[in-house]
Amino acid sequence: AYSVAPPHDGPYLAIENVTKRFGGFAALKGVSLEVAHREFVCFLGPSGCGKTTLLRAIAGLDIQTSGRIHQGGRDISALPPGERDFGIVFQSYALFPNLTIRRNVAYGLENRGLRRADIRRRVDELLDLVGLTDQAEKYPAQLSGGQQQRVALARALAPSPGLLLLDEPLSALDAKVRARLRFEIKKLQRTLGITTIMVTHDQEEALTMADRIVVMNQGTIEQVGSPMQIYATPASTFVADFIGTMNFAPGVMAGPGRLHAYGAELACDEDGIPTGTPVTVAIRPEDIELGTQHGRNVVAGEIAWIEFLGSFVRLGLHRTGTGEAGIRIDLPIARARQMALQEGTEVSFALPADRLRLYPESARG
Ligand code: ATP
Repeated sequence: AYSVAPPHDGPYLAIENVTKRFGGFAALKGVSLEVAHREFVCFLGPSGCGKTTLLRAIAGLDIQTSGRIHQGGRDISALPPGERDFGIVFQSYALFPNLTIRRNVAYGLENRGLRRADIRRRVDELLDLVGLTDQAEKYPAQLSGGQQQRVALARALAPSPGLLLLDEPLSALDAKVRARLRFEIKKLQRTLGITTIMVTHDQEEALTMADRIVVMNQGTIEQVGSPMQIYATPASTFVADFIGTMNFAPGVMAGPGRLHAYGAELACDEDGIPTGTPVTVAIRPEDIELGTQHGRNVVAGEIAWIEFLGSFVRLGLHRTGTGEAGIRIDLPIARARQMALQEGTEVSFALPADRLRLYPESARG
């Protein structure tokens, strides 16, 4: 009785060179992206980068100025939302306050010519899926925020859409509920195998939930990759800066596999960048090896501050004698205890060559 995504060759969703202008302002500047069947993709980026606009174009809530969108092999570029095949959940749960939870979930199933018994069975199934069977006869106002968002999810999934769109679905919830729902939505998505796109500005949400993250900036896609790829090998300084914590320092290529940075000559894995090219050098705080005295890329510095962050400690170091910008180093708490660290202490540390990321001027985001 319910539609499932028809099998077809190629990506489930194909976005081709989509542009969206609001008056003279370009919110999307030629965005192309393919999403595979059953994939969970997050659009991640700062406020105003265009992620919501792209989601709304996929839904048909905003029609793109130019470019095409295919879903399941069908060209949906010009279709109104009602003729597209998706379920959507917004940040504001947008439930009908005067309808019971059951009626809210049934909403998308009514007017579809289904028998009442079938609707009832489907609603029961969905309420069970989101763990709200015992709340069925209540009204939205009697439920917590997290419960209301689960109702919204059940309502979106009830007609078995081929595509689930989530627009910042967790941002209105408090931290604990958010963490739980994050897990629940992910599990549900896996169980149902439904292709899902979620908009978020929360990197932790994207890193924990997505199969692939699409990092957006000013109407363009900066990088598409798995959470691991995005974190370990950010494609631009914008991505490096937006995701996690990153140390940046200016540098200059000194030859193949060599550069000047942090007041020293360092080995690096990157080559192909011409000698003399100014670069931005990036390294994660947890990739720096504190206490290393000998070997490649060892430099020294003085501990300027120590920050206790629960499971790890973050140190701020000043490079001795260079007056250069500081560098942050993260240490697991057990290791920090062993080392009995103090402010003002001189320490040496290594910047592993394979962990240094170099961005030539031209690649700066
Ligand atoms: P946020 O997290 O703040 O929602 P976003 O990445 O989702 O950010 P969009 O909502 O896609 O950003 O908006 C992208 C840009 O387009 C913004 O600069 C916004 O001001 C502009 N914009 C969006 N909708 C409209 C509109 N209807 N009219 C004019 N400008 C718009």
